[in-house]
Amino acid sequence: MYYGFDVGGTKIEFGAFDENLQRVATERVATPTEDYALLVDTLVGLVAKYDAQFAVEGRIGLGLPGSEEADTGNVLTVNIPAAKNKPLRADLEARIGRTVKIENDANCFALSEAWDEALKNEPSVMGLILGTGFGGGLVYEGKIFSGRNHVAGEVGHMRLPIDAWFHLGDNAPLLGCGCGKKGCLDSYLSGRGFELLYQHYYGEQKKAIDIIHANEAGEAKAVEHVERFMELLAICFANLFTANDPHVVALGGGLSNFELIYQEMPKRVPKYLLPIAKCPKIIKAKHGDSGGVRGAAFLNIK
Ligand SMILES: [Zn+2]
Repeated sequence: MYYGFDVGGTKIEFGAFDENLQRVATERVATPTEDYALLVDTLVGLVAKYDAQFAVEGRIGLGLPGSEEADTGNVLTVNIPAAKNKPLRADLEARIGRTVKIENDANCFALSEAWDEALKNEPSVMGLILGTGFGGGLVYEGKIFSGRNHVAGEVGHMRLPIDAWFHLGDNAPLLGCGCGKKGCLDSYLSGRGFELLYQHYYGEQKKAIDIIHANEAGEAKAVEHVERFMELLAICFANLFTANDPHVVALGGGLSNFELIYQEMPKRVPKYLLPIAKCPKIIKAKHGDSGGVRGAAFLNIK
């Protein structure tokens, strides 16, 4: 039995998955965001409850918005203040008496997609989230590659490629990022970035969904904006694909519902790749909101 916890800023979702990776239990509780002891008790309590229910010792994985500091194992997160700088994995392992794996939630998203029935034989899967931010994860041979510092896949904090800068023109905006740098992809390719760019070029605040509808209606500014954005996305994706050469790319987050992306990327990406490279298959993520808990549970598959 595989247990997954998707620990978010407001709720914890628990899922138990059997050996066929089918979900057999789900529970949601509020995240004790300010009380570390209560957070640990809550997680330990859910493990005990489902161990008893299924008469097993489930294997435990946990996804959260943040990561473990590589050398100390302390959790780095802004969304769950109670867990900040705490050795959550060590404390859980001491209480439960078995191995606990912790991963960034974007990596869990990628792992969840990689273990989808249709993709599980693909050698590599890149998950990219076009949501409030832009992030992602890399799965090789069914396992997350998280790197020396657990920042592999943090594509949102790569800076704009030079092609992108030229593409954005003389009036290109140099947008700041929460990490303290300027020009991070997070500020350009996310749903928020899509809106920020519109505001920059046209001086109007407009929601992404309204821009998309205006584009479909042929409204000139929206059409120009979408054209500019698709090329920007292609340039940035091509850079990621050159570095990682994934077999399949699964897109998640709100902007991944923009169907035009799946038509435009295969046409636009190749000219920014090496001549021998082809654009990987780009698909919409299948598991949406349950990706976090699935991916957390599947941390223990291999
Ligand atoms: Zn950044």
